[in-house]
Amino acid sequence: MKPLSPECLPLPDCAERAWARDAVNLLQGDARRSADTHLINPVFPGLSGISFYLKDESTHPTGSLKHRLARSLVLYGICNGLIRQGTTLVEASSGSTAVSEAYFAHLLDLPFVAVMTKDTSRQKIAEIERFGGKCHFVDRACEIYDAARQITEETNGHYLNQFTYAERATDWRGNNNIAESIFSQMELEVHPVPEWVVMCAGTGGTSATIGRYLRYRGLPTRLCVVDVEHSVFYDGYRTGDRNKTCEKGSRIEGIGRPRVEPSFLPSVIDHMIKIPDAASLAAMHVLSERIFRRVGGSTGTNFFGLCWVAGQMMRENREGSLVSVICDSGARYEDTYYNAKWLEENKFDIEPYREALNIFLDTGDFTLLEALVRASK
Ligand SMILES: *Cc1c(COP(=O)(O)O)cnc(C)c1O
Repeated sequence: MKPLSPECLPLPDCAERAWARDAVNLLQGDARRSADTHLINPVFPGLSGISFYLKDESTHPTGSLKHRLARSLVLYGICNGLIRQGTTLVEASSGSTAVSEAYFAHLLDLPFVAVMTKDTSRQKIAEIERFGGKCHFVDRACEIYDAARQITEETNGHYLNQFTYAERATDWRGNNNIAESIFSQMELEVHPVPEWVVMCAGTGGTSATIGRYLRYRGLPTRLCVVDVEHSVFYDGYRTGDRNKTCEKGSRIEGIGRPRVEPSFLPSVIDHMIKIPDAASLAAMHVLSERIFRRVGGSTGTNFFGLCWVAGQMMRENREGSLVSVICDSGARYEDTYYNAKWLEENKFDIEPYREALNIFLDTGDFTLLEALVRASK
């Protein structure tokens, strides 16, 4: 075929740039209207020389740390020219991300479809639908990816794909990411540079952002990632095998995955701990009682990890600050984790862990907690 000479082609307009400009403005406007989240410093009498700090991400407009991620994923799609006027947004989610993405889709007047397992909490489903999003349900956690791809194809839409793009959609050098915010909020504390940051993993995006930021800023703080039952992050980290999978889905909503997600970056993690689900839920109850408001299950995992690291530090007579995250509020789990009948039906015996945690937080005595964890192995 003979190539066309250049003058035969009319120069194109810059297609849809006006829509993209308005969309980016709307997203930046949402950020401008938001205040930074609190870094709270609850006091526990048994902790000598150790301070806990919790970054409260439950106070974002859509109730979780996924507000940051959803804004970043949508911005990333628009700036890559993949999201345009009318593009259907599709996501595979265990719920929180879909709630936040539904909010941004509504803000930009774009259709949104969330693919989730059918046991996703009623509250999250209601929130997605409130923002005009549609929910598509599958039976098992490992089925969400293929279903999301298929719906993306059918609608000629854009798959936001948090499990792949979380780590790269967030600007890890700063730009008000969670790590930059935490370290600047710590500046006037007695121990301004934390010994450890403890974080659970869903996409792995938050831990990736924190781990990268530590290196970028030359900080000595170490990163401990806490994993749950029915998740392969821990095994993937220990063995270096990214192809590990597991059959059953995680019971702690928002975290623990049946495959080692592409966004999970083992190379920036200093240590990992696998925490029994009953311990996560006990820690969720204990923290909620002590700060007088309810937090979600993954926050329980984080809090248990904080106590575990603190117990070991105290044994070695070490002092310092430890930071973790309140990922979402307990309001989403009234029917489940906060319902005694549900706990019983699902065979979670949280009482032994609850007692051991309370003893540790009140007296600093770590022996019972440690004995329970050893017995669970
Ligand atoms: C996503 C999520 C997490 C984990 O954050 P990632 O950055 O995805 O690893 C923790 N808790 C809740 C409730 C979440 O939705």
